[in-house]
Amino acid sequence: MSSNRTPPVVTPASVLVSFAAMLALMGITSTSWEFAIRDQVLPQLGMSLGTGFDDASRWRFILTAVAFAALSQIGPALMLFRAMRRLDQARIAVIKAREEADSLARYDPQSGLPSRRMLRDHMRKRLAVSTGTSGYALLLIEIDRFKATTDLHGLQMGDKLLLEIANRMKRLLPPEAIASRVSGEEFAVFLPRPGKLEALGKMAQQMISHLSVHYQLEGIDARLGATIGIAVTPDNGTDEGDVMRAAEAALYRAKHKPGSYRFFEPAMDEELKRSRRLQRDLNGAITGNAIVPHYQPLVRLADGEVVGFEVLARWNHPTQGFIAPDVFISIAEDSALIGQLTESVLKQACLDAAKWPDHLKIAMNLSPIQLKDIGLPEQIMRTLKTCNFPPRRLEIEITETALVDDDKTANGILTRLRGMGIEIALDDFGTGYSSLQNLRMFPVTKLKIDKSFVRSMNRDANAKKLISGILALSRSLGIATTAEGIEEPAEADHLASIDCDFGQGYFYAKPMIADDVPRFLKGNARTLSAAQ
Ligand code: C2E
Ligand code: CA
Ligand code: CA
Repeated sequence: MSSNRTPPVVTPASVLVSFAAMLALMGITSTSWEFAIRDQVLPQLGMSLGTGFDDASRWRFILTAVAFAALSQIGPALMLFRAMRRLDQARIAVIKAREEADSLARYDPQSGLPSRRMLRDHMRKRLAVSTGTSGYALLLIEIDRFKATTDLHGLQMGDKLLLEIANRMKRLLPPEAIASRVSGEEFAVFLPRPGKLEALGKMAQQMISHLSVHYQLEGIDARLGATIGIAVTPDNGTDEGDVMRAAEAALYRAKHKPGSYRFFEPAMDEELKRSRRLQRDLNGAITGNAIVPHYQPLVRLADGEVVGFEVLARWNHPTQGFIAPDVFISIAEDSALIGQLTESVLKQACLDAAKWPDHLKIAMNLSPIQLKDIGLPEQIMRTLKTCNFPPRRLEIEITETALVDDDKTANGILTRLRGMGIEIALDDFGTGYSSLQNLRMFPVTKLKIDKSFVRSMNRDANAKKLISGILALSRSLGIATTAEGIEEPAEADHLASIDCDFGQGYFYAKPMIADDVPRFLKGNARTLSAAQ
C-alpha cells in the first residue's frame, strides 16, 4: 500500500534514459563542433584547420568521440547508479516507517480498532459541533481476567482474544458508533446518545453478556468478563477530556463489582481522585517499607501455647493516620502493587521472625488475584532465601474466592508452594463457597473458621452447629482448624472442648508490632508455667 505511493526514482530504465541523453548530448556537441563551431573558433585562436577533413572523416571523428565518451562513462555511471539506488531505498524506507508509525498511532495493530488518539480526535470533532441536549455517550469497557489469561496462555493467544473481543463488540454496535482499544485491556465505545438512558444501560448489559460468553480458540477455553463505566454529554462534560475522566470514574466504581456497569455520578470523581492520591502514596510507602507487619498470635487451644503469628499489614499514613488494610489492599490489587506489597511485608516479617524461637510459624495473607500469578511461588522462594528463612515456618492464607476464577492456575501455584514445604490455610471458611470440592482438590493443610461464626456462637445455635460441622469435616479430611475472632474466655473453652485445634483473637492478643513480640512470648510462657 505504502510502496505504491512512494515509487523508487532510480530504476534501470531511468539510468538508461540518462545514459542515452548523455550520449545524445555528446553527439549534438561534437556534431556542432565539427560542422559549425570548429571552423569559427580555431582560426580566431590562430590555430590551423589542417587539410583533408572531409565529411566522412568528420563523422568518423564524431562517432569515435561519442563511443569513447560512452565507454568512459560506463564505470562512473554504474557507481552513480548504485549510490543513487541506495539513497533511493533509504528514502523509501524513511517514508514507509513514517507511514507505519502514523497508522499505528491511528489504529491498534492487535484489534484493528481505532487507537485512543484517533478516538479522542473523533470525539473532539463531534463534541465541537454538538448542540442542544441530544449529546453523545462514552462506554469505557474493561475486560476482566484478560491479563491473567494472557499470562497463562501467552501473548499470541492474547492477540487472538483481542481480535475476537473487537469482533464481538462491533457486532453489537450501531453503525454510527466508533469502538476503540484505549489501552491493554480497556476498550471504549463512543456513540450518539440514545433518547433514553435505559437504552444505554441495556446496551451495556448486552455488551457484558456478549463479552462474557466463553472464548474457545485453538482448543483453549478462556473465560473473560467485562465491566463498564458510562459517561454522557452534555451532563457529565462537554469536551473529550472531561467525558473520558467521567467514564473512568464510573468504571472505577463499577469495578467494585466485576461484570456490572455504572453511570457516572459526581461523587465518583472525588472517589477516583482520592484513590489515585492514595495509590501514589501507597507506592511510596511500599518502597520505603512504611507498610509494616503487625503480628497476632495463633494459639493451640488444648494448652494455650503460642504456635505462630498471623502477619497483618498496617499503614500509618503521614497525614491521614491508620488506613484499614481492607482499603489499601484493594488499592494495591487494583494498581498491580499487591506483589510488591506482599514482598515487602513478607521480607520484614521473615527478618523479625528469624529472631523468635524456631518452632514459631508466620501466616501471611495473599490476595485472590495473586493466585493467578504463576511467578508467585518463585517470588516467595526468593524472598525466603534472601532472609534465610525456612519455608516450613511459613503458612499462606488464602480465601476461597482465590480458587474459583481459574482453579487450574491456583492449584498449580498452591501445589508448588506445598512442594516447597509451605503450609496452606483456607481463610474465612464458612463465608464464601465453603465447598467440600475445594478441600479435596486443593492442597489445603488448615481451615480458618471465620470470626463471624465465633462472634455469634453464643447467641446463635446455628453458628454453633456450623462450627461443629466444619470441625467434623476437617477432621475427616485430616485438616487442622483455627477459629478466629475469639474475644471471650468462654469461647476459647467451648472451642477447645469440641477439639478445635487452634485459636486467634483479641482474647489472646491484638495484632502487635515486632518489638512487643518477645515480651508477649515471655508473658505467655509465664502463663503456661503458672497453669501447669
Ligand atoms: P483476615 O485475614 O481475616 O485477618 C483477620 C482480621 O481480623 C484482622 O483484621 C484482625 O485484626 C481481625 N481480628 C483478629 N482478632 C479479632 C477479634 O478477636 N475480633 C475481631 N472483631 N477482629 C479480630 P485486619 O488486620 O483489619 O485485616 C483485615 C483483612 O485485611 C485481613 O483479614 C486480610 O484479609 C487483609 N490483610 C491484612 N494484611 C494483609 C496482607 O499483608 N496481605 C493481604 N493480601 N491481605 C492482608
Ligand atoms: Ca487471614
Ligand atoms: Ca480471616
